[in-house]
Amino acid sequence: MKKTIVPFFISHRGCPHRCIFCDQQKIAGAVGTFPSPAEIRDTVARYRHSSGSRVVDVAFYGGSFTSIAREDQQRLLFPLQDLIAAGEVSSVRVSTRPDTLDAAAAAFLHAAGVDVVELGVQSMDDSVLRQAERGHAAADVAPAVRCLKNEGITVGLQLMPGLPGDTMAISLVSLASVLELRPDFLRIYPTVVVAGTPLAQSYADGSYRPLSLGEAVELCKRLLHCAHRAGVPIVRMGLQPTVDLERGGVILAGPFHPAFRQLVEGELCFDLLKKLLPRCTDGAEPVTVFCAPSKIADVVGQKRANIRRLHRDRGLRIGRVRGDSSLTPFEMIVAGSDGTRRGSILEDLSYTIKEKYHV
Ligand code: SF4
Repeated sequence: MKKTIVPFFISHRGCPHRCIFCDQQKIAGAVGTFPSPAEIRDTVARYRHSSGSRVVDVAFYGGSFTSIAREDQQRLLFPLQDLIAAGEVSSVRVSTRPDTLDAAAAAFLHAAGVDVVELGVQSMDDSVLRQAERGHAAADVAPAVRCLKNEGITVGLQLMPGLPGDTMAISLVSLASVLELRPDFLRIYPTVVVAGTPLAQSYADGSYRPLSLGEAVELCKRLLHCAHRAGVPIVRMGLQPTVDLERGGVILAGPFHPAFRQLVEGELCFDLLKKLLPRCTDGAEPVTVFCAPSKIADVVGQKRANIRRLHRDRGLRIGRVRGDSSLTPFEMIVAGSDGTRRGSILEDLSYTIKEKYHV
């Protein structure tokens, strides 16, 4: 069952400065004031009421939680203690920077009931981090992850491919470096140009070019494939569409798409279909594709893109796509007039690095 998350936006609180791409107020559509203890309790109660008294998770988004004063961290977490003890709140998550997380900070979070921490890593390349004015180095990430793991805290890492100076190769190396740290999950946010940021200025003067949507999908397909093979889930790809974000004039350029993840998943399925289909059909008879029920939409592609492309480019016709619950989300079977083929995204696809995407 999907969990209800009670979000509190503390936009930019604790941030030592603004990273060149960031405007949390525009991205999250919320002002970063600290909620009072009463507001925290009331908000949790409201979410629980509207979700049928379900147990909820609480998340503090959009700032650098461990950079804010310890008393303020306490003030935010203290009102949750009774709710955690009563089993009304099952999880508390915060996001922060790797350079502000040491053993003491991790021990404090653990003692205060925080069980998930997301670190904004963005890149494991120091030149990219410098150009993004992150103010920390790649070497800060591993110690922070270690401190969190020592406390038994679930660790999520966020990457932002497409920052200035990034390339497909650098993004893939960044991913490989964070996978070595064995995070519990990843989030991947291809860089978009948000109005009012220094990055928007670079875009305006022509010194920065964001990834196109096609380039970002191509790159993220490779990142997703590597993460799948490493067994690390990517829980989100692409910014969450919000009313504020989709309002004209907020995102000036870059690969924003409300269903970005589905585009990427669809590409992986398309690559496996291409691999399997020519071996089992001459194009004369339509074939049937079997996949896990949850993957039917990805196999078909948005607006039937995969079916149409296979027909247009290769003369191959897919008659039906059917769910088969004995298949994993990575597997597919294609059945044509000349037999059946079974394949797996994990085992049958491999990608080489295309260096053409310099950002
Ligand atoms: S990316 Fe994180 S640290 Fe940088 S300005 Fe935004 S919220 Fe603050």
